[in-house]
Amino acid sequence: MRGRTRRRTAGANLRAWAWWLCFCIVVPATGTVTAADTPLHIVRKGDTLSGIARQYGVSVTELAKLNDMELDDILRPGQKLKLPQGAQPADPTPAPKTVVVRKNDNLTLIARAHGVDVLDLALANGLTLDSIIHPGQRLVIPSGPVAAPLLPLPAAVRQAIARAPVQKGRWRYIVIHHSATTSGSPRAMDTYHRQVRRMENGLAYHFVIGNGHGMGDGEIHVGARWRRQLPGGHLSREELNQVSLGICLVGDFNRAKPTRRQVESLEALLQALLERCALTPDAITTHKQLVPGHTECPGKLFSLKSVLRGLESSRALSPAS
Ligand SMILES: [Zn+2]
Repeated sequence: MRGRTRRRTAGANLRAWAWWLCFCIVVPATGTVTAADTPLHIVRKGDTLSGIARQYGVSVTELAKLNDMELDDILRPGQKLKLPQGAQPADPTPAPKTVVVRKNDNLTLIARAHGVDVLDLALANGLTLDSIIHPGQRLVIPSGPVAAPLLPLPAAVRQAIARAPVQKGRWRYIVIHHSATTSGSPRAMDTYHRQVRRMENGLAYHFVIGNGHGMGDGEIHVGARWRRQLPGGHLSREELNQVSLGICLVGDFNRAKPTRRQVESLEALLQALLERCALTPDAITTHKQLVPGHTECPGKLFSLKSVLRGLESSRALSPAS
């Protein structure tokens, strides 16, 4: 009897440790991990490049250079930053508060008992609101709001992406454009493409993302070419139009950067399209990268690298991954 109790306790301890190890990877205690001898900092909500530099006693320009970044690049929770060799946190943050799940506990009860939002509790532990938790499982209690992995796509957009009759291997590239105008709407683009460019299928892009001038800031328009899985009309080479989805962001990105909401919508849309079309991120490109020498589109202030990095860190944080 005694022996059996001991074995069961040992098993429960092991399980608790296994859970704890999982959380260590998702929510490291200090924000610092080491991969292949390069010290890394995992960005948390509210982190800034200068704040991180101060935390490790390194110069902000050195940190930016090491990570191939600009000083004003936006950091995203979950993003991994390389640190100079030997960098040590000057003031390590305390280990996060944790609780062990008891019998009959659920996320709502635990959140209420600790005065945190239930969604923050779920996100901090890589769970969703309907995840089942087990006695003995250790949960991190977040100290504040936790960033969601991705701006969720509006249900109508998600449905339109799911419902289109996408054939296997149909698409090879996802090409990002700007409108090169300060305002714009799908209707105006459709009229232009039909009447001036003589395109019988109208709107040359599969998706348009607004900037608040002519359509909502971050609003995603799903075009008929996506719904009907028609080739794009957004590239000069017909053989590329056949295999390329086109996304147009309203704005002139030679003059101004895309808005924050446009970038968030773009990343959410790209993630959904990669999954729907069974593509990998290397399918994502820009007009000028795919057809070099002919265009500046989508403008010199649009950073594909930053979008891909955002996509990567969102995936790292996504409960589904
Ligand atoms: Zn273009």
